[in-house]
Amino acid sequence: GNESRLQAIYQITNREPIPPKAPKRLEEMWATDVFSLSKMQSCLPKEVFKSVKKTIQTGDKLDATVADVVAIAMKDWAIAKGALYYSHVFYPLTNATAEKHDGFISVQGDGSVISEFAGKVLVQGEPDGSSFPNGGIRSTFEARGYTAWDVTSPAYVMETDNGITLCIPTVFISWTGEALDKKTPLLRSIAAMNKAATKVLKLLGHTNVAPVNSSCGAEQEYFLIDANFANSRPDLLLAGRTLFGKPAAKGQQFDDHYFGAIPERVQVFMQDVEERMYRLGIPAKTRHNEVAPGQFELAPFFEAANVASDHQQLTMTILRHTAKKHGFICLLHEKPFAGINGSGKHVNWSVGNATQGNLLDPGDDPHSNAQFLVFCGAVIRGVHKYGPLLRAVVATASNDHRLGANEAPPAIISVYLGSQLEDVFEQISKGDVKSSKHKGIMNLGVDTLPIFPKDPGDRNRTSPFAFTGNRFEFRAVGSGQSVSGPLVAMNTILADSLDWIGNRLESDLAKGTELNVAILSVLKEVMDEHGAVVFGGNGYSEEWHKMAVEERGLANLRTTADALPVLKEGYIEDLFQKTGVLSPVELASRFEVYAEQYLLSIEVEAKLVISMAKTLIYPAAVKYLTDLANAIACLKEVGIAFEVESAEKVSTLLKSMTDSVTKLTEALGKHDFATPEEHMQYAAHTIRPLMDGVRKYADALEGEIADDLWPLPTYQEMLFIK
Ligand code: ADP
Ligand code: MG
Repeated sequence: GNESRLQAIYQITNREPIPPKAPKRLEEMWATDVFSLSKMQSCLPKEVFKSVKKTIQTGDKLDATVADVVAIAMKDWAIAKGALYYSHVFYPLTNATAEKHDGFISVQGDGSVISEFAGKVLVQGEPDGSSFPNGGIRSTFEARGYTAWDVTSPAYVMETDNGITLCIPTVFISWTGEALDKKTPLLRSIAAMNKAATKVLKLLGHTNVAPVNSSCGAEQEYFLIDANFANSRPDLLLAGRTLFGKPAAKGQQFDDHYFGAIPERVQVFMQDVEERMYRLGIPAKTRHNEVAPGQFELAPFFEAANVASDHQQLTMTILRHTAKKHGFICLLHEKPFAGINGSGKHVNWSVGNATQGNLLDPGDDPHSNAQFLVFCGAVIRGVHKYGPLLRAVVATASNDHRLGANEAPPAIISVYLGSQLEDVFEQISKGDVKSSKHKGIMNLGVDTLPIFPKDPGDRNRTSPFAFTGNRFEFRAVGSGQSVSGPLVAMNTILADSLDWIGNRLESDLAKGTELNVAILSVLKEVMDEHGAVVFGGNGYSEEWHKMAVEERGLANLRTTADALPVLKEGYIEDLFQKTGVLSPVELASRFEVYAEQYLLSIEVEAKLVISMAKTLIYPAAVKYLTDLANAIACLKEVGIAFEVESAEKVSTLLKSMTDSVTKLTEALGKHDFATPEEHMQYAAHTIRPLMDGVRKYADALEGEIADDLWPLPTYQEMLFIK
């Protein structure tokens, strides 16, 4: 019956609200839980601090003697904050954050204990990594993986289920030096991009060029559902999404949720989330309701990509933990509810440095426009050449429900520039600027470009990769995904393009070509070869899907099964190898791990579909059918003819559902696949449609069966009762 549903509603409507906390001043909270540079400065000897600061700026490994001093200072600070444990936090290939906790406690010869934390423990740890997916890099006899502090990301204390813990952000590498995590390639991709960008900037005439870094600001969408509901939905608990459920009569068709007033309970939750973020030095900036009911968004101020990526992982952890405290479950799944908007993560990304500023800012002085056009052109080339890679790095079983499923954004990777920039690049590609000898026209692309307005008003929400004023916004990233993979891909393709542009400019200049002419010619070539990726129209339209593939030769990789094998292609292997971001072995291991995750999550869902259909929906339908049959029989006895159609309908639907369950069960029994590729295709094109088949009949039954027999909290209840 529906007891657990009713119980949930009772609990929710009678809940004692958590009172809002008195608002604190930002300065009172800001980074109080971070062992920041300024804290180090105040507690470290001057020489040591200088050395640490330099290491942080260069990203090198800490000197052993320095590490000892830093470790003691860090330990004392953490203990004063109440920490008993420390943990090397690392980022395995699962999108999760992993940590192994160790106590500071050290037992002495006389049986007494002291708190201990040596420099070598700070710099390097040895977690038992054997249970983390490594795609065949390590055999079990050499299962050890090492963690090493990434000095560019500060240590912090965090309240976890274990109490308060000192957390040290680390890279995770194998005994043989291979990257087993998501941070190591990110650091390498930044280094590769820096190298190529520095060369280009010097060719453009800059003599003073500070290290170039990439920046990231990730907008996080999520759903909040009351935990009481989630607890009676095995699908939400185990798969993070509803595998069954008839759309609510009131969906999002009224659009009244977007930017609407945030319900008080959610507001208290958000305030709590923000306080925890501020204490950890994460610059939470905007929050609002999203399009769907129960959906919200949180965006921080952008930061250096590496720190932003760590902070994004922390943000997801904080959202989940805090939700629990407030009686919610936070769903980071890309498509928790059918028929309602999904959740994404818009990764805003740019590159820049201290001397030239944001290199993707068109600025308003004509000289910097040439520089901007070179960097923007490099992005265009990269996205065209490696579009399938960008699709592959956002390929997960859950994100397939957005990409390629006629939802935002499409699976075809194109670039939106905005009408003004599009026009500038069109002029460049027409090359009439080149054919004329008149100086004024000759320099059109460089010295006398139109001044770009700071924030171009036109925005295209249907593009997966859009220029938004002074950065690109990669919108195809999944809401539950680490931002690291997408950042690695963007930095690496940019490194590759800048390297190519740099070499072209270098040889042209050596031949005595004027800089402006050389720039124009290389940009024209970029547009000739790669202009097909620029698209400003409606990315959802059918015409675009046809045109993109048939006329422009862009890939439309609808499913993860189509997209992941891209990682095995020779040109992708070359890209990662020549930029030094991933070795062929490391790249191959990523394919293995992601393919396995894809297969596993579909298998888990398929099994859940079967068990929920059999143990929850089937019994409810049978009970209803029995009640109906009894009623019909009773009425007949007293001479009242009662319609039997509804009983027949339920019975037919039930039979169809049962048949679908049988088919799905049989299909799941197949295991003889020659390759993971073949298995993925089977999961995408056989298992998934069969799951949808079961759901279709189950959802139809939900519309027939008496409400008081329906066992699962409904869409209406989950999305609208708060
Ligand atoms: P919108 O919803 O209009 O896209 P938001 O304000 O929600 O805008 O999010 C914009 C995000 O882009 C923020 O996280 C912001 O910090 C980030 N951002 C702005 N400038 C840059 C930049 N140069 N590099 C990276 N991210 C940036
Ligand atoms: Mg955005």
